[in-house]
Amino acid sequence: MAERVCSGIRLIAGEGLCSNVYILEDGKEVLLIDSGDGASLPALDEELITKKIAKVLLTHGHADHINGMNYISADAFLHEADLKILPQLNKYFPEFKIPGNIEKLGSDAIAFGKFRLEIIHTPGHTPGSVCFFEESTKTLFSGDTKFAAGDRGRTDLFGGDEEQITASLEMLGKMKYARLCPGHGPME
Ligand SMILES: [Zn+2]
Repeated sequence: MAERVCSGIRLIAGEGLCSNVYILEDGKEVLLIDSGDGASLPALDEELITKKIAKVLLTHGHADHINGMNYISADAFLHEADLKILPQLNKYFPEFKIPGNIEKLGSDAIAFGKFRLEIIHTPGHTPGSVCFFEESTKTLFSGDTKFAAGDRGRTDLFGGDEEQITASLEMLGKMKYARLCPGHGPME
């Protein structure tokens, strides 16, 4: 079951390793932020009985965030720096098959109904990690870069970089957001 985050935004909390999936609604269409690893698909299907996925924005290229795209027919968008190294990023997940519907994310903000999502490149957890800042609700979708209670993303996996994530977190620390929506665990 999805829970309400704020007006027009819902969350399917990730269970186990699965990432959180955020659902932004505009009329009969939705935009997803991350697709989960597949475990959230039944809850997503319940949400989508009368709605269609317009597009999916991916915070980075790890399987627990993108494997759901193997079961979703919409197009997804991922930063170029992760798109180029998907096999290496996912060598920890031997069963993982790269979805065929992931394209390169541009750098321009994405408009979707009343929402406007600014793309912020925040390397460190992976080279192509991004955060999305939704301007009308001042919500920061922070992927695996920043978590609640000041927790930071791990940098010990392929492509991780401690100096880069420190710089990314410093940049995020200067932003005025009302709500942090991370890739795992609770919101803040
Ligand atoms: Zn990750």
